[in-house]
Amino acid sequence: MSNDCLFCKIAQGLLSTEFLVETDQLVAFRDLNPVAPTHILVIPKKHIASLADLELEDRALMGEMMVAIRRLAEQLGLDEGFRVVVNTGPAAGQSVHHLHFHLLGGRSLQWPPG
Ligand code: 5GP
Ligand code: ZN
Repeated sequence: MSNDCLFCKIAQGLLSTEFLVETDQLVAFRDLNPVAPTHILVIPKKHIASLADLELEDRALMGEMMVAIRRLAEQLGLDEGFRVVVNTGPAAGQSVHHLHFHLLGGRSLQWPPG
């Protein structure tokens, strides 16, 4: 845990965030400012600053995160499709420096993204 990291605090349950999923490795919760009818953040409990900081030792964790996302998409009825986004670094607009996967769905999503 990083002491000054917002998502570490959320993952530790310090901000009373409602979790859609919690395992020993990850949590999922609704984004504060949703950009789609369904907008969930899936984060590891381990502090990893961004995808650019990922190591091979994190591969099982990343696999668990992908399966959690697939299950959430099913549970939330995103049968028409969904998008998973990982903003990485300043050019991509990453604003919270703790790895997070955006799960977006519930509307038609344009491509390419802005
Ligand atoms: P990024 O811009 O880094 O890819 O995404 C960060 C996301 O975290 C944004 O979509 C933002 O709305 C969300 N966010 C920032 N602070 C909070 C918070 O305190 N609670 C929740 N649930 N979401 C947050
Ligand atoms: Zn963190």
